[in-house]
Amino acid sequence: MTDHSHDHARQLRTATLLVHQGRDRDPFTGAAAVPIYTAATYHQPGGQGGGYDYARSGNPSREQVEEAIALLEGGTAGFAYASGMAAIAGALSLLRSGDHLLASLDLYGGSYRYLSTVLPRQGIAVDFVDTTDVAVVAAAIRPETRAIYIETPSNPLFRITDLRAMVALARSHNLLTLLDNTFMTPLLQPALALGIDVAIHSATKFLGGHSDLLAGLTVTADADLARRLKHYQNAAGNVLAPFDAYLLSRGIKTLKVRLEAAQSNAGQLAERLRRHSAVHRVYYPGLDDFPHRDRHLAQAAGPGAVLSLELRHIAQVGRLLERIRLPIIAPSLGGVETILTHCWSMSHAAVPEEVKASLGLSQNLLRLSVGIEDVEDLWADLEQALEG
Ligand SMILES: *Cc1c(COP(=O)(O)O)cnc(C)c1O
Repeated sequence: MTDHSHDHARQLRTATLLVHQGRDRDPFTGAAAVPIYTAATYHQPGGQGGGYDYARSGNPSREQVEEAIALLEGGTAGFAYASGMAAIAGALSLLRSGDHLLASLDLYGGSYRYLSTVLPRQGIAVDFVDTTDVAVVAAAIRPETRAIYIETPSNPLFRITDLRAMVALARSHNLLTLLDNTFMTPLLQPALALGIDVAIHSATKFLGGHSDLLAGLTVTADADLARRLKHYQNAAGNVLAPFDAYLLSRGIKTLKVRLEAAQSNAGQLAERLRRHSAVHRVYYPGLDDFPHRDRHLAQAAGPGAVLSLELRHIAQVGRLLERIRLPIIAPSLGGVETILTHCWSMSHAAVPEEVKASLGLSQNLLRLSVGIEDVEDLWADLEQALEG
């Protein structure tokens, strides 16, 4: 893409940007979809290196989504990886042996596994702290601390970290801020505009949106961080494949309409579930009695499309999972279809039981990623499954 068209894309409003992204047609043929460039390598005329050389280093299909995420988050460089975990590994490659990392308490299960088992073997110490409390984080900073790794809303308990406060604290100690922005997407929570150094997405979720691919993204507005992220991506080779890049670019085009429809459904289900006698508690930032609702809405444009519910009795969990028909029962979120997760045994299976218990993540907890079906069908299904 030329600088001229990049400048033009930056001026576009979100819905337009999602559809057109940084490149919306094949420069060679005018085809309305950027082709899936499968080539592993590129001819160098006369032995002279030109634009592309080898697909791990650069691929036009992958670049389409890398530009898209950079534009959407307001960054200068985006990177696409084979999965969200690969993106997280990419962001954490900014640390090195001897460094210390502070991370939010109730992270995505796979992130907890990576931070608690892989990083220590690389000589990187990790402390999990309550990032919703700035004083707790400040007190945990050591001379070797290099970064703060955050998820907000946290998963699956929807704890809200004040991102501006975290950025201010990090800057005063020269620490990097890394945010897993998967739950909110750039549309609801503008990570880089809030001062975050590196935003991370599991694009498997809302950005892809159809539960049909695995992908991860990182994005930054800092030239030095971009250079280091690019170096690691090329060196490690955990890149997004061209076919998956095509699927992801296609999913991103409809992100706004999907997210708005799903968020509206989630809000209605959260209200109804809260009043249901079988439900002990609903965790959803859109509820007016949600703790830290104001904190969330000061940094995000909406509550999102995911909620958690705690049933009164453990026996109800099995019964609900037996009776429910529409949602797929699986460890994922962000698809057009509703997805129901038993966090204890699925998304957070990698977290030791005693850690889950200490976090307040009970066996009665279910996470509902609300899709774009008709809300009345979803409610009728939930109601019949909660009966008895
Ligand atoms: C799914 C998920 C990940 C991991 O992404 P994959 O694409 O499954 O590797 C990381 N963070 C969050 C919040 C997620 O939901």
